[in-house]
Amino acid sequence: MDLPSFRFHPDPLRTGAIVKQAGRCVCCNQQVDYMYVGPAASIHDLAEKLCPWCIANGAAAEKFDVEFSERQPLVEAGVAPDVIDEIVGRTPGYICWQHPTWEVHQGKPCQFIGDATGKALRQMSKEELAAFMESARLDRDDFEELLGIYRPNSNPGVYHFRCPETGFNRFRMEYA
Ligand SMILES: [Zn+2]
Ligand SMILES: [Zn+2]
Repeated sequence: MDLPSFRFHPDPLRTGAIVKQAGRCVCCNQQVDYMYVGPAASIHDLAEKLCPWCIANGAAAEKFDVEFSERQPLVEAGVAPDVIDEIVGRTPGYICWQHPTWEVHQGKPCQFIGDATGKALRQMSKEELAAFMESARLDRDDFEELLGIYRPNSNPGVYHFRCPETGFNRFRMEYA
């Protein structure tokens, strides 16, 4: 069975939010070959217990009132309510140090690409770098220092997003 597609998280296998791992989904009660291992905010313990299909079709969100990423930043960014529901309720979240938060570019939610590579950080355009330094509260020296120490899946974490409309790259930094 093909994995469902998620327009705001196009390759969840590569990002590590979904893994090839046999398990039983607590939502559909099916034995499946792929499990979701990212964050799941709910009063229920859903850690590594949901299949990707129950995320995509909204069954998990409906049954467990689960959210896979932060709602409030999208509300504040003025994203349309139905798109917010799709991102927080029907899109796999991503593994990060603090709060999985979707980046927005000009009012449109970006796609989550994965942990930033060092190369991606070095290849930012001037405008992308200015946006990143502002959001991460870095000056030029801090950024140079970050380039020297940064490793993917390490501390600090830098998460890479891309605007599907303009291709603009956004990065979000979090400390452990
Ligand atoms: Zn399921
Ligand atoms: Zn854009």
